[in-house]
Amino acid sequence: MAAVVEVAGLRKEYALGNDRVYALRGVDLTVECGEFVAVMGPSGSGKSTFMHLIGLLDTPTEGTYRLEGQEVSNLSTDARADIRGRRLGFVFQAYNLLPRTSALENVELPMVYAGVIEAERRALALEKLALVGVPQLAAHHPNQMSGGQQQRVAIARALVNNPGLILADEPTGALDTKSSQDVMRLFARLNEEQGMTIMLVTHEPDVAAYARRIVTFRDGVITGDATNDRRAA
Ligand code: ADP
Ligand code: MG
Repeated sequence: MAAVVEVAGLRKEYALGNDRVYALRGVDLTVECGEFVAVMGPSGSGKSTFMHLIGLLDTPTEGTYRLEGQEVSNLSTDARADIRGRRLGFVFQAYNLLPRTSALENVELPMVYAGVIEAERRALALEKLALVGVPQLAAHHPNQMSGGQQQRVAIARALVNNPGLILADEPTGALDTKSSQDVMRLFARLNEEQGMTIMLVTHEPDVAAYARRIVTFRDGVITGDATNDRRAA
């Protein structure tokens, strides 16, 4: 199996007035193609900082990061944006769909940036909406959908450029229990049936239970890394 993520000695410091905050203090992690990893840990342990670095939204203070074999820890802002658009799919707690825009157009958007022609965009967006189980919502606007439906549309949007890695930061944080379970079953199915590599942050054990591997952060380092052999159905 090929590694999707290979991180070594990753450190991130922030300046805070005259102080420095050591958000990550030396993180090593390898994620292979086809893995489904839940990142857990208490508030302030560095989970979001870590996901921002993995998502190329920020650069580390120190350390190396290989994404699908390419060293990406020292790229320019433009080069990182380019890789984000082509190789990474993002899912957020707040869905981040454009209002007053149909589900179909929301899902098409990353392909507009990637320069895909309209007919092809439309077909691919419909295909992904069907894949996440909401083809009937193509013409609906976000304010006509439940939270769980909006998150499905956001997941379809994350999939359209066929990314090598899906990154989700607390994707069920705004959902009720039933919708959370639906969304986590969807992630589990995308991992099992489509072979998608997924890294997902959560502080809820019930949510992490759907992943195959659980990595735990504390005080900016990884303190636990275990296979989850009691996966939720
Ligand atoms: P988590 O997502 O696990 O709650 P974070 O990665 O958000 O943790 O934060 C880790 C530590 O880094 C915390 O102490 C937080 O206050 C600090 N931190 C995060 N982002 C910044 C920033 N932009 N500037 C200063 N400190 C930050
Ligand atoms: Mg966080």
